[in-house]
Amino acid sequence: MSEFLQTPIEFLKGVGPQRAEILRKEINIKTFGDLLDYYPFRYVDRSYYNKVSELPQSEGFVQLTGKIIRIEEVGLGKQRRLNVKFEDNTGIIDLVWFQGIKWVKPTLILNAVYQVYGKPKIFGNNYSIPHPEIIPIQQADPRKGLKAIYSSTEKLASKGLHSKGIEKLTSALVIQLNNHIPENISPEIIKELHLLPRETAIKQIHYPQNLDLAEAAKYRLKFEELFFLQLELLLRKQIALQKNKGNVFAEVGSIFMDFYEHHLPFPLTNAQKRVIREIRHDIKSGHHMNRLLQGDVGSGKTLVALLCMLMAVGNGYQAAIMAPTEILAQQHFETISDLVKNLPIKVQKLTGSVKKSARKVIHQELETGEAHILVGTHALLEDNVKFTKLGLVVIDEQHRFGVAQRSRLWGKSETPPHILVMTATPIPRTLAMTVYGDLDVSVIDELPPGRKPITTEHRFEGDRSRIFGFMRNEIAKGRQVYIVFPLINESESLDYHNLMEGYESVTRAFPRPQYHVSIVHGQMKPEAKDFEMRQFIEGHTQIMVATTVIEVGVNVPNASIMIIESAERFGLSQLHQLRGRVGRGSEKSYCILMTKDKLSKESKKRMATMVRTQDGFEIAEVDLELRGPGDIMGTQQSGILDLKIADLVKDNHLVVTAREKAREILQKDPNLELPENKIIRHKIISILKEKPNWSKIS
Ligand code: ADP
Ligand code: MG
Repeated sequence: MSEFLQTPIEFLKGVGPQRAEILRKEINIKTFGDLLDYYPFRYVDRSYYNKVSELPQSEGFVQLTGKIIRIEEVGLGKQRRLNVKFEDNTGIIDLVWFQGIKWVKPTLILNAVYQVYGKPKIFGNNYSIPHPEIIPIQQADPRKGLKAIYSSTEKLASKGLHSKGIEKLTSALVIQLNNHIPENISPEIIKELHLLPRETAIKQIHYPQNLDLAEAAKYRLKFEELFFLQLELLLRKQIALQKNKGNVFAEVGSIFMDFYEHHLPFPLTNAQKRVIREIRHDIKSGHHMNRLLQGDVGSGKTLVALLCMLMAVGNGYQAAIMAPTEILAQQHFETISDLVKNLPIKVQKLTGSVKKSARKVIHQELETGEAHILVGTHALLEDNVKFTKLGLVVIDEQHRFGVAQRSRLWGKSETPPHILVMTATPIPRTLAMTVYGDLDVSVIDELPPGRKPITTEHRFEGDRSRIFGFMRNEIAKGRQVYIVFPLINESESLDYHNLMEGYESVTRAFPRPQYHVSIVHGQMKPEAKDFEMRQFIEGHTQIMVATTVIEVGVNVPNASIMIIESAERFGLSQLHQLRGRVGRGSEKSYCILMTKDKLSKESKKRMATMVRTQDGFEIAEVDLELRGPGDIMGTQQSGILDLKIADLVKDNHLVVTAREKAREILQKDPNLELPENKIIRHKIISILKEKPNWSKIS
């Protein structure tokens, strides 16, 4: 690493100890190199000025020049603001300050000419620019061409390091660059992809000669970022493969064959078959399997899980399947017990509510090997649950499980069990291969035949009585109805109140003895929840009022209507999950999204997407577009998503290219020993050293 890049930032002209301190604290810039890696997010043309009269057409930041024709302070207390009328030769606009008035005001001179830079906002019918950057025109940058815009923070700005201050520093630094920045990508790749050399790219990203070069610089730096990310992921996977030996399930086994030939309730879909082949390939290989199985709601993941568990059992191992809730574990237990009832194997269930004495028996059966398959909740993670030979663990609906919990499975047997993580929250493949790092991904992209499409409608409070009428008709035909209320946070008493109120209004509209209504929510005791759920599953109640506790996995084929209350408060993937609770039987099913009348643009888009499509992957794409990947994956993987310049969603083509290049290189040179990969090796070693090892977390 060059000495120049390691120079502490305080030695850059214009920085000094105070600014150095704030740069480190606010944006983690400690050295010249760090500052050069702090990229701008857009550019303005220094010589271009927007016109006040054309502001309604422009978007985002604008640059104006003109003079101040009035300065006044208005409002009292917290409402107090500084209002400045600013005029160019096309019109007048307000510049507004809510804070720092006593510093800003004395610097402004009536009738003097200024350069103004900021983001217009509309208030009523008028545009104004809150907290603009404003400088006397004499102090405006005399250089022609593009100026980089950087994100800043309030604290940085208070030390003069708003975008412009930062730009002054970077452009001063960039001018000094003269072969100070070593290349970190091999010449072959640079040539093949027409990439700018690293130093040129760094120069052009901060201080571009023109937009084309700025774009080329961006492309090069994005590629570099994604390339090293993919290389890192592939290397970690390679290391894990070498290090972690897996149980070998040499045969499919007679139990599997017996089931497959005599007890399979329906022919497998092609997608199910393909996925089983992929899994089979892993578990006979001697490598440790770490596989993510994505499949839309209702795509038949449970059966795939069972078939894999039967392979484990047939090879003399035990298998476990872990569900996120008691209800779900119970349902899996019943489904699986029923499917294997003619096979010589023992299935047990372990959840939080299993009594101590029964628990003892189960523990014993697991330790002696008498029990072959264990179905459970996270209760099966407890340390006193020991297996004689645990070969495979299936985790259903993975988004409910934390990384730390998963890693506890590794301690349950000498050789870590194969792990199959199943999720019904599909994410686009390019994202999956990055976010799930060293997991392999299988996809069930086909629903079992004969599913009828679910009709989805968006309705409002005013439609309520007609919806009740519709429910009565359907119930008269023998159908059942879910009504789901948001209870995002179980402790939110307002949500709870809405739920209870909703329940009461439903029981008023659907009175006994003709109708029976169940209710399930998170504050109920598990036994009570179970009882209510059971009432509904067995058809004793026609309506189930519930919170999202019923979101995952529950299977009641006779339920054909899903009503989602305050649907605007749910995310897309959650709405899709909820809708997946219906459409499981042979009857036509409906999903009704109830919302308030006035919706935000985003909420409207979510509703429209739900009405338009039932394809989980399409919904996931829109979700990603609306929320960004960080939100979707939760915080646990956010480190991976912490990219400086590339965007895993918008740059997904580049993700693929980067992945291919990284793979090509590792195929030819798995340990990066060839001379041509020396540069890459150097960089990746420093990356691997920097980050903690997460090979054990998946
Ligand atoms: P999910 O993938 O959402 O967990 P399930 O495993 O609960 O889906 O399966 C949904 C329903 O589809 C179940 O009732 C199951 O019995 C049924 N099913 C699974 N595979 C097939 C198949 N190949 N053909 C017909 N029905 C199937
Ligand atoms: Mg399921």
